[in-house]
Amino acid sequence: PLTTADLIEDHRICVCVRTRPLNKKELTVKDLDVITIPSKDVVMVHEPKQKVDLTRYLENQTFRFDYAFDDTSTNEMVYRFTARPLVETIFERGMATCFAYGQTGSGKTHTMGGDFSGKNQDCSKGIYALAARDVFLMLKKPNYKKLDLQVYATFFEIYSGKVFDLLNRKAKLRVLEDGKQQVQVVGLQEREVKCTEDVLKLIEMGNSCRTSGQTSANAHSSRSHAVFQIILRRRGKMHGKFSLIDLAGNERGADTSSADRQTRLEGAEINKSLLALKECIRALGRNKPHTPFRASKLTQVLRDSFIGENSRTCMIATISPGMASCENTLNTLRYANRYG
Ligand code: ADP
Ligand code: MG
Repeated sequence: PLTTADLIEDHRICVCVRTRPLNKKELTVKDLDVITIPSKDVVMVHEPKQKVDLTRYLENQTFRFDYAFDDTSTNEMVYRFTARPLVETIFERGMATCFAYGQTGSGKTHTMGGDFSGKNQDCSKGIYALAARDVFLMLKKPNYKKLDLQVYATFFEIYSGKVFDLLNRKAKLRVLEDGKQQVQVVGLQEREVKCTEDVLKLIEMGNSCRTSGQTSANAHSSRSHAVFQIILRRRGKMHGKFSLIDLAGNERGADTSSADRQTRLEGAEINKSLLALKECIRALGRNKPHTPFRASKLTQVLRDSFIGENSRTCMIATISPGMASCENTLNTLRYANRYG
């Protein structure tokens, strides 16, 4: 039976899964959909419905989450059940975090940042922008209006354990921890924003900075965590903070056996940070003495978001529907599965 502690925890952590339609590439190689969402909180991985000569037999596996979104769901819908409830948290002096976790190509950036795949970049429909929109709407409510809050944004990237400012030409930043275990990213640009349009400009700027000079945008972004933050301040003091994170691809485990030393190190660093993240989320708000914040740059930088009474987090696990991806998909579902 559930205890009170379980209920409190439930309230603080929301885990959901989102699948997408098969894309052109998958259709070209005749990959088949092995994902079904039979109800609003269940994900099934199974044999393809189409009859084929199976090279591999897939046992049916079922997973439960807080929500499961099928391939017809929109960003707005996913947002409404995941990040939207967390906007309130930062107005109530809390810390909120929202992660997109999954294999490269599964839809993390599409969900968080918006669509950057074509020539016409559109970040207005990603969760970063939707959250910003609602922050400015909330500011107008009488209760919050009288607080006279200012809104700021930061955007940075963690690549191979190093922090780079996406709003300042990728300046490399140092992370300092003071005696009181307060973590500070030294020199991180915090830009004041007055409306959603301001925020969209920063997202575009940061995103082009993120991928500039890279031979392949996806190759780079799949190896780095992007952190976008909305910060509320009152008379200069932090009132609340919302961190929205497009995590590095979780498929990099294979890289740990790569012949290339740099690739191997990157793979190991990513594995380490994703494991530390899972531990920190599990310990959320319980003030566990052994929460491994220091185990990775990602969790160290997010330290203040995992402690304190009023911290909430949501994880959006994105999956690719194809049979070819099923090993990565099962890994993602197992990672996100907190009931199992
Ligand atoms: P990731 O960031 O996880 O590597 P992307 O967000 O870049 O993956 O998505 C890979 C491709 O799939 C992109 O072309 C993107 O536009 C498309 N895509 C992702 N999610 C969806 C979705 N829910 N509906 C339609 N297309 C999607
Ligand atoms: Mg991406």
